[in-house]
Amino acid sequence: MSTLPPCPKCNSEYTYEDGTQLVCPECAHEWSPGAAAEAGDGEPVIKDSVGNVLQDGDSVSVIKDLKVKGSSLVVKVGTKVKNIRLCDGDHDIDCKIDGIGAMKLKSEFVRKV
Ligand SMILES: [Zn+2]
Repeated sequence: MSTLPPCPKCNSEYTYEDGTQLVCPECAHEWSPGAAAEAGDGEPVIKDSVGNVLQDGDSVSVIKDLKVKGSSLVVKVGTKVKNIRLCDGDHDIDCKIDGIGAMKLKSEFVRKV
């Protein structure tokens, strides 16, 4: 019995595996199963260190000292960061920190306040 997911484009059930890709014989769509699963839930959800869902405009505090790349500055644990913006990438929070300026943070190193 096949456990392959249906084609995300045309919903055909006749998908088959081709290496790491899945292929739909009806509309010729090719995709990788991992990507399809991620796309299924709409917007990616970014969570803080304890699992709170973060949104644009939230305020967070930093839970560990973070070195600022390319400088000797350190964002101290407990630093409050207001009005964050979520973005894509390894560092998924865009923000401005008093005394430091614009920088990017990782969501795993902050906690919603
Ligand atoms: Zn298809």
